Amino acid sequence: MQAIKELSIKPWFLGSLVFVFVVVILWNIPIEKRKYGLSQGNLATDYTGLLPERVERVVKAENRMELQKIVKQANKNGQQISVAGLQHSQGGHTYFKNGVVLDMRTFNEVLEIDKQEKTIRVEGGATWEDVQEAITPYGLALKVTQSQSIFSVGGSLSVNAHGRDIRFGSMASTVKEMTLLTPIGEIKKVTRDNSEEWMKYVFGGYGLFGVILDVTLELTENDVYTIHTEELKTDEYESYFNNLLDHNNTALHYARVSVAPNTFLDEMYVIDYNYTGKQDHKSSLKGEQGVHLSKLALDLGRQGGFFEDVFWETQKLYIDSIDGNTITRNNAMRSESTFMEFTKSGRIEVLQEFFVPVNSYEEYINDVKQLLSPNDKNEDFKVHNITVRYVAQDNLTSLNYAKEDMFGLVILIQHGLKEKEIANAQEIIQDWTSLTLEHGGTYYLPYYRYQTKEQFIKSYPEWKKFQKEKLRRDPNEVFQNLFYDYYIK
Ligand SMILES: Cc1cc2nc3c(=O)[nH]c(=O)nc-3n(C[C@H](O)[C@H](O)[C@H](O)COP(=O)(O)OP(=O)(O)OC[C@H]3O[C@@H](n4cnc5c(N)ncnc54)[C@H](O)[C@@H]3O)c2cc1C
Repeated sequence: MQAIKELSIKPWFLGSLVFVFVVVILWNIPIEKRKYGLSQGNLATDYTGLLPERVERVVKAENRMELQKIVKQANKNGQQISVAGLQHSQGGHTYFKNGVVLDMRTFNEVLEIDKQEKTIRVEGGATWEDVQEAITPYGLALKVTQSQSIFSVGGSLSVNAHGRDIRFGSMASTVKEMTLLTPIGEIKKVTRDNSEEWMKYVFGGYGLFGVILDVTLELTENDVYTIHTEELKTDEYESYFNNLLDHNNTALHYARVSVAPNTFLDEMYVIDYNYTGKQDHKSSLKGEQGVHLSKLALDLGRQGGFFEDVFWETQKLYIDSIDGNTITRNNAMRSESTFMEFTKSGRIEVLQEFFVPVNSYEEYINDVKQLLSPNDKNEDFKVHNITVRYVAQDNLTSLNYAKEDMFGLVILIQHGLKEKEIANAQEIIQDWTSLTLEHGGTYYLPYYRYQTKEQFIKSYPEWKKFQKEKLRRDPNEVFQNLFYDYYIK
């Protein structure tokens, strides 16, 4: 007893106790998993769950002959088919009322890796995680992918996703060859110079032009990068970025804009991944790191007001601490994602993305400042995060969001689920979209459709051609989803 008493007054003992206590608390911060997807009762949903719908059946894709049979039968019987990958799209892109859903998650084999040619042939339902696991031992890496590796290859190409690489252009441009199950049930090999232009419509085609069975992707080396971070004012960003493009030592880059009241849209920080000239053939892929801590910090920011200022300052400390670290390309392309999960009942977190021409960025941000409240603590519509990526001009896809070199602003928004709260969010996002259009911008289509059809038409002037090609290649309108129903039909 005496020994315990003596111990309890020693500073190192008290310090250790506090340390253990803090670790236990942090470790027990729950990382909930949002429930969504094809198995939620009879209703299909996607990542947000905002558009529940009854479907006829869900088919787990196992082999191409079976998929072909389903498509041919649907053409005969007047059925509708939708295609689902990991369902991270948020506007009902993966299902349709009373339709058949092809669940592609089981169609996920890596078919071939050519080390000499630096290519991989992989099935459409495989995730980037599957691809990274297969190519890392060869010292190879993807040319273009999203910041996280949780998405499917087919789903990512069908939205023509973009990432943090500022040198390789669009994701579509990295595909050498594709095997497509067409809407009338043919299995076709399609290359880039295919005269029928299948890639133009399938990539960024939201599952409306058939099923991507497999693709052959161009790869690059698993380079080692040095991380460079810096704090900037918003009006310094354009010239900072143009300088990066002019000098060839940066491979990946993204930035974040403050949404905290004290520095609202004034401050930014940038993260660059600079070439070291070295490549990595040994390091393994990293898992999710520090998610409890990141979740705690994000939850703090979610409180808004003073706490959002604290969150922003914490982020700056963090990015300062990683300045000068090294990381492999594959690891830079698999950021953590579980800490973002949000499961508060009666509320939802959604993504939106606006694109503006690089040289309009500063004026655009100044105008957005007039549109939003810098302190949303007491408001229903809350903006938690804005990251900025570079998206090079894309001439390859029909529904293309980058008609010139653009910055994409990815925005994490929270709002309530009552009718008037959704209507309020819709009004703000529509105003934001109109402002973006005034600056020669566009918005991204995999997310929830707050926008009007007129805004869609202005953003995607080629949509009529897209519609015409859809009807020509899919005369029985077999491939359908809620996105098609709302925007294109
Ligand atoms: C947290 C988060 C971060 C994100 N970050 C980025 C980012 O950095 N950059 C970016 O560009 N996007 C980003 N996105 C959007 C993301 O790229 C898309 O939601 C993408 O579609 C996700 O892939 P998925 O496997 O979930 O596709 P799904 O949502 O399942 O499907 C998307 C579309 O592809 C179609 N489809 C799926 N598989 C096939 C197939 N085999 N053949 C034909 N069509 C198919 C579907 O019908 C649907 O229309 C992000 C989304 C989230 C939720």
